[in-house]
Amino acid sequence: MTTFADLGLSQKVLSAVTDAGYTIPTPIQAGAIPPALKHRDILGIAQTGTGKTASFVLPMLTLLEKGRARARMPRTLILEPTRELAAQVAENFEKYGKNHKLNIALLIGGVSFDEQDRKLERGADVLICTPGRLLDHCERGKLLMTGVEILVIDEADRMLDMGFIPDIERIAKLIPFTRQTLFFSATMPPEIQKLADRFLQNPERIEVAPPSSTAKTVTQRIVATHDKDYEKRAVLRDLIREQTDLKNAIIFCNRKLDVADLYRSLSRHGFSVGALHGDMDQSSRTKMLAGFKDNQITLLVASDVAARGLDIPDVSHVFNFDVPIHAEDYVHRIGRTGRAGRSGAAFTLVSRRDTKYLDAIEKLIDQKIEWLNGDLTELPPPAESYESAKPKRERGGRRERDRDRDRGRRSETPRAEAKAEARAADSHRPDMKSGETPVLEETNAKADTVKAERKAQPKGQTSARQANRPAPAPAPANDDNRDRRNRYRRDQDDGPTPVGFGDDIPAFMLIAGKA
Ligand code: AMP
Repeated sequence: MTTFADLGLSQKVLSAVTDAGYTIPTPIQAGAIPPALKHRDILGIAQTGTGKTASFVLPMLTLLEKGRARARMPRTLILEPTRELAAQVAENFEKYGKNHKLNIALLIGGVSFDEQDRKLERGADVLICTPGRLLDHCERGKLLMTGVEILVIDEADRMLDMGFIPDIERIAKLIPFTRQTLFFSATMPPEIQKLADRFLQNPERIEVAPPSSTAKTVTQRIVATHDKDYEKRAVLRDLIREQTDLKNAIIFCNRKLDVADLYRSLSRHGFSVGALHGDMDQSSRTKMLAGFKDNQITLLVASDVAARGLDIPDVSHVFNFDVPIHAEDYVHRIGRTGRAGRSGAAFTLVSRRDTKYLDAIEKLIDQKIEWLNGDLTELPPPAESYESAKPKRERGGRRERDRDRDRGRRSETPRAEAKAEARAADSHRPDMKSGETPVLEETNAKADTVKAERKAQPKGQTSARQANRPAPAPAPANDDNRDRRNRYRRDQDDGPTPVGFGDDIPAFMLIAGKA
């Protein structure tokens, strides 16, 4: 059996790995570390939870032992799609690099430039960034990328989903062609393969656990529900209460508006709950995550973007409040539980309108998921109101109904929203001249939204979203907000929830106005 000592890592690294308590390298580590140490490019097809982070951090630490950093000229660069993932990689460097004296700079949005500038001034051995904030620093003329010897592109498929690929291409052009590139993705759709072909030279390809598989240690069940959110919330509450072995859980929603709604609803019902989505400021996100990791919070309501790749060991349950639109997201969500051979449980709420997404998931994972208490045909008739949807013991009291009726205010399609959320969550991007790629992307995102809306509604009708579109709210005070276009988009996502008519919108409000 291969041990860490067989991989060619330095003594300093091996000693830190031993201190971390790891003895046997995971398959991605055993496959990627030896060629990475020989300066080969790597194409790693692996999900989070497979030990992927150490598979690039450990060889990088070994290679960085030779040479030293110069001011404003980082030696290595790691690109991550979200702030949390970037912070997690930085933690990995601290853990495995405890015997090294390396300068690590974390460049993520939501943190002041000054502090980051000071780190860069001292000379960074390792730069860990989200793409937008890195480009901001480059445009400010404070960073020279010509000294980068190793480039890591992590979670490439997620970068694609978030619309970061043009940014990555711009960044790659700033780095010497002779660099070593380590490229990781959980899935390999054709766009990612093309990108890998462009960025990598004769890479060593390591593929671990096919991306479509879910861990055998996870018990998966689907739960029939009607599609009104108040009904789904009642089903979810019951489901949570029924879990006698629940230690902690992540609850996934497709849209960040629903993350906020569900979070408020669960806290009003007395659950210990936190929320995580890309528009929260960095300190709230960090606090929330720390509270969840320390077991001060039992339930974490999250969107895919925010939760992607989070290293939260030992989550006992995953609940999908919404069936994910992209089947691969199901695999990622479920991957939050049943890690490292532990057992876990995953429940997905399914209504009639979700069946095509469920079919796609079952096709991807190549298995039928069992219904928990009978399928959709066995569902009793829908409750007539929010009050009657609640279990008896919960009835009476609050006026949640108004909010529940106001379902016509969805801001974006989930895909467009994921892009918008990611970009808002990343650094504030530099001003760009019109015609540059981001404008195109924005147009595409809007086109996605419009297409989906047209599909979803009868001809000639204006969507409730259009009718109820809120006025842009001022940007948060702590934002260094230089990109007007982004600010507009963020405001669209974030604007105050309008008091809407929900399903009862008067006909005159549905007549399309002038653009
Ligand atoms: P990652 O896929 O990088 O997010 O890693 C998932 C988890 O596995 C993290 O908690 C790591 O600390 C842990 N881990 C990484 N390598 C090993 C290893 N060789 N043995 C046991 N656990 C590991």
